[in-house]
Amino acid sequence: MDYISTRDSGHRVSAAQAIVSGLSPDGGLFLPESLPQFSLSEIETMAKTGYAGRAVAVLSRFLTDFSEDELREYVSRAYAPEKFPPKAVAPVVPLDENAHILELFHGPTCAFKDFALQLLPFLLTASLRKTGCDKTVVILVATSGDTGKAALEGFADVPGAKICVFYPDGGTSNIQRLQMTTQAGENVMVFAAEGNFDDAQNGVKRIFTDRAYAEELAGKGYILSSANSINWGRLVPQIAYYFSAYCELLNAGRIKPGDPVNVVVPTGNFGNILAAYFAKHCGLPVGKLVCASNRNNVLTDFITTGTYDRNRGFYVTTSPSMDILISSNLERLLYLLCGRDDKVLRGYMEALAKTGKYTVGPDVLAKLQSEFAAGCADDAATAAAIRDVYRETGYLCDTHTAVAVNVYRDYAAKTGDRTPTVIASTASPFKFANSVLPAAFGRAADGGDFALLAKLAELSGQPAPRALAGLQDKTERFTAKVEPAKMKEAVSGWLGL
Ligand SMILES: *Cc1c(COP(=O)(O)O)cnc(C)c1O
Repeated sequence: MDYISTRDSGHRVSAAQAIVSGLSPDGGLFLPESLPQFSLSEIETMAKTGYAGRAVAVLSRFLTDFSEDELREYVSRAYAPEKFPPKAVAPVVPLDENAHILELFHGPTCAFKDFALQLLPFLLTASLRKTGCDKTVVILVATSGDTGKAALEGFADVPGAKICVFYPDGGTSNIQRLQMTTQAGENVMVFAAEGNFDDAQNGVKRIFTDRAYAEELAGKGYILSSANSINWGRLVPQIAYYFSAYCELLNAGRIKPGDPVNVVVPTGNFGNILAAYFAKHCGLPVGKLVCASNRNNVLTDFITTGTYDRNRGFYVTTSPSMDILISSNLERLLYLLCGRDDKVLRGYMEALAKTGKYTVGPDVLAKLQSEFAAGCADDAATAAAIRDVYRETGYLCDTHTAVAVNVYRDYAAKTGDRTPTVIASTASPFKFANSVLPAAFGRAADGGDFALLAKLAELSGQPAPRALAGLQDKTERFTAKVEPAKMKEAVSGWLGL
């Protein structure tokens, strides 16, 4: 199966090439030329296997230049028992009669991004071999917090790879920052970038589209690639867990084969919810896709009005991994919604670059609204959701998940939609203990991060994940700051060019 660029439908590459390049040279994102279809009986067969079997079934239909044996090996190493709990890689926990939480935070960095970023190093290094490239791959990552750590953890000491992460200075939680700045590995680098996530992401995008720089690097034996969710290799592993969630609901007798389920996703860069959209269009019985935002509600406005407008205030919230005003992956959805018309898509993207906004046509808006519902929750509503869910059910959710729960409850109340629902839980509550503790238990969040972790463990009766509690014994290795305009120089300096 070939992949094409959203900005030039004539530009075709293999899956391996798409994974190596990350972004298309024309600035577009890669998409499969068509979507593989899964029948109900194939889904029922998947339900009889474990997570690895489901992941291989999905990946092998998208990554046709990889053999099933290769994929099986990568999947078994990425989701190995020392990284994910073997029987509960992506468990589904009932919340009430209709709603279920899909827990995606049991990997090594306690956030859902591990699903993609534990697998990506295998996919990427194999893709380099398949495309005949013998260069050292340099991964550049802009992170709002969780991607950076998950990518560092995935790529640390991977032969033939180096990784450099930029996080917004002051834009992450302290625990998120420590997870990155204490990262081990000979091939890793971390910078605090001045500005917010969008500034960091734009800085990385500028480096990727700088052809002269790419040539300079090539001359020194380096090739740039991305571990951000603009890379197809990041998205495709995420499609698998929506299939897995459906299988779990089948196995638990919560649904019958063919019953539709709604999916609610706390959204930032639009990657995770796009994976759910792909799952739906590959034949998974999905009803509404509910897009949940925090106070940075640019997506809610877009889905409600058809106008995407990033000219607005940027807020630092208690769900920092969703503090984003430019949702890069939306480009992939728009391309599909406008019938794979690259000219129309380029018009939107040029308007976004020039004026910070665009408005889609009425037919695109109608399609968008037939598939997606949207809502947003500010910090107060998020805290209230954590409190209410904990009081009513004893379930402790993190701030990002709570945004989704709040939006789901509003949606269900407003529409009366009683469809069985999967709410993606994207992070462990311990990762955001400073917000979860006061919300769930009315305790002041003072006394330092590790005291908060211990307090949350004591009050909830759940142990704090070792990956987080263990940070207090580690030393910070990376403290350098950089201006967004100087990111290229920072990369060169680190590589010793
Ligand atoms: C990255 C992240 C999100 C947003 O996911 P997108 O794929 O960017 O929409 C939500 N919650 C958490 C905890 C995250 O780390």
